[in-house]
Amino acid sequence: MSAIEDVKSRIDIVELIGQTVPLKKAGRNFKGLCPFHQERTPSFIVFPESQHFHCFGCGASGDAFAWVMRTENVDFAEALRILARRAGVVLRPPTPQEQESDRLRRRLLEIHAAAARFFQNQLLYGEGGAGARGYLEQRGLTPETIAAFGLGYAPDRWDALYSHLREKGYGDTELSTAGLVVERERAPAGERPYYDRFRNRLIFPIRDLQGQVIGFGGRALAEEQQPKYLNSPQTPLFDKSAVLYGLDRAAAAIRREGRVILVEGYFDVIVAHQYGFENVVAPMGTALTPAHVHLLKRLTRQIYLALDADAAGAMAMQRGVEVIQEAMDLSLIHI
Ligand code: ZN
Repeated sequence: MSAIEDVKSRIDIVELIGQTVPLKKAGRNFKGLCPFHQERTPSFIVFPESQHFHCFGCGASGDAFAWVMRTENVDFAEALRILARRAGVVLRPPTPQEQESDRLRRRLLEIHAAAARFFQNQLLYGEGGAGARGYLEQRGLTPETIAAFGLGYAPDRWDALYSHLREKGYGDTELSTAGLVVERERAPAGERPYYDRFRNRLIFPIRDLQGQVIGFGGRALAEEQQPKYLNSPQTPLFDKSAVLYGLDRAAAAIRREGRVILVEGYFDVIVAHQYGFENVVAPMGTALTPAHVHLLKRLTRQIYLALDADAAGAMAMQRGVEVIQEAMDLSLIHI
């Protein structure tokens, strides 16, 4: 475990924030007057499950580190020192490799946030976005749902995202490490050495538990396009065997209802949430892994599998049950 994770796991954000902001219980969360803007009725919420805060008035949000950085007006390193002292964790100086991998991680998160905004704007305002919007409408998704899940559109061009992110100052190597562009095998002199991985696809941003975008899924919009679903490759941020789509939005409901429902794809998750079933998540084009089960185990011990009723679905169900039984000490499985 890294020092950052160690500190984070020992700090309770409700206790931390509660020292300076009077908090009242509101359902599973806590509510108070936002310290970052003037208000008379509380719109500042602290979420114990995901250990973060969010103000619905001014948009201020983040984890314990962000809280300390903002309230004490310090940088990340100093916030880490303050919280480590509080948590009784002795910090050794980070090795150069750890500093480098921290720096890269932050940079990749920035790139993913910028790419997610780009795709979203393309869906709403881009030339090619109309087709994708029509498709979403036909699948019955409301504008609110589309915005909540941050859905986007990757234009039918070789360098739309690439050019956009280059203009924002990101370099070839980091864009390729982020998995957003692919290196051309033989680029003629004077031509771009990279092309966009996602082209003419509906884009599903994939988020970690804190809601940060760490990867993308893309659904083909043209008949002949292969594969139908394309995900980000393995990157320093994204490991599809350890991420469940929708978990950032589902975690609170899973705790509240005491169970989770696993479905097969992006649309199944989104439609379920739209109709009020918020404890629904999906693995991404992979069978259920022990890492998935460990993620869920912290939230509930009741896992329901709702996979397609075809032969492949039945096989996946059987394998899923085995994985769950192995990863849980006792098995409470419902099909
Ligand atoms: Zn605020």
